[in-house]
Amino acid sequence: MSMDEVSFESFCSRFATEKDCVQALYQAKWPNGFCCPRCRHPYAYVISTRRLPLYECQACRSQTSLISGTVMEGSRTPLRLWFQAIYLHARPVGINALQLSRIIGVTYKTAWLICHKIRHAMSLAERDQLLSGIVSLSDAVYSDRPVASLEWHKQEQPLIIGASSEETGKVVRIKIKKQNKVPLTSRYDSPDQEIFIRENVEPTALVRRIVKRRIGRHRDLALVRLCLEAASYLGQTFHGIGPKHLQVYLDQYCYIWNRRKQAAFLELLQFCAITRKITYPKLTGSTPVRSSRPKRHYGVASTLVG
Ligand SMILES: [Zn+2]
Repeated sequence: MSMDEVSFESFCSRFATEKDCVQALYQAKWPNGFCCPRCRHPYAYVISTRRLPLYECQACRSQTSLISGTVMEGSRTPLRLWFQAIYLHARPVGINALQLSRIIGVTYKTAWLICHKIRHAMSLAERDQLLSGIVSLSDAVYSDRPVASLEWHKQEQPLIIGASSEETGKVVRIKIKKQNKVPLTSRYDSPDQEIFIRENVEPTALVRRIVKRRIGRHRDLALVRLCLEAASYLGQTFHGIGPKHLQVYLDQYCYIWNRRKQAAFLELLQFCAITRKITYPKLTGSTPVRSSRPKRHYGVASTLVG
């Protein structure tokens, strides 16, 4: 049995009951103690007659459930299964909806929704963490086929990767964003680079921009390689991600990559506890995803072919 399986088993026994999960979720949602979502009052009565406790504010009497305002809001799936799903998403090795449905014993549709809701929390967590210090940018291409023509193939998606590095050049944090398909023969920088920097890079960062055109000779090979690794990871884990959903999967990849050395369950639980659930129409792409959390800026450019 691998270490992953052993630790997953011990995780499951640590959070074996709804009560175990309620305590941990309460901590993640209100790390400084209860806070009424309506009036900020710090005291509540606990109503324990339901599946999950309800908290009634002692000042304004409004009631709030433990899962309201979290990605779990409205879900009837037991917390213990949500916890297992969050644990599995926090590991460096990826998990897809089919695998999740088998491991935690829910339908594919339920697993699919859980995966997307957790991914949404990861995506917002990444958006709020800007690149800082020495930042490099590079153009890259997301594709599962080696192509080097002067026209975009429909399966190719141009990307910008931004990376924060230590002075030694070691990359410590990355962001990968889709960009628009400008003509490959264009001699100019894509305007998306400016947008990327504005949205993903600290204003005080030292931005070192690199060549952006796909068929340029001056590519940042380290960054190009990171994008290839991302494409390979996503391709193997999720099989055939459409362009409409690619960004949120890239965000998930960057979330994991940026935390590859940390124990991650509690941090991801916390992000899930402070992220409002994404609605079904937004998940399925019928409306653009917007968030109420404020945005700031970004990062890089080189060329990745194939
Ligand atoms: Zn209140």
